[in-house]
Amino acid sequence: MACLFCQIAQGEIPATVVYHGDGVTAFRDIAPQAPVHILIIPDQHIGGVADVGQDHENLAGRLIRVAAEVARQEGIAERGYRLIINQGRDAGQSVDHLHVHLLAGRTLPTTMV
Ligand code: AMP
Repeated sequence: MACLFCQIAQGEIPATVVYHGDGVTAFRDIAPQAPVHILIIPDQHIGGVADVGQDHENLAGRLIRVAAEVARQEGIAERGYRLIINQGRDAGQSVDHLHVHLLAGRTLPTTMV
């Protein structure tokens, strides 16, 4: 079965896309954990952090650059935001396609876990 986030990047499954370009797509999380909750993904399939290879280094950096760009676009750059990547079962990764969570719009807990 095709990967859910691959299908979103290809426009085959609807999502609220806020950025698309340079091999990266950003869209609103379907179950937001904060007033702003956006996922930033590479269009190409990478299973997660554990699958990031040397060939992906530019692309991985681009995910962070796009996250900052989207934060400015959303008007939350000044107040701040948090980027999270879950890798594997213990971290709660539920979609096996690399994605960066961009969370903002309220004071976020300072604990890491
Ligand atoms: P993770 O638990 O880190 O793998 O994050 C996966 C995220 O994908 C969760 O926050 C889900 O709410 C989100 N999600 C799952 N399906 C969709 C979808 N169709 N559109 C937008 N976000 C989704």
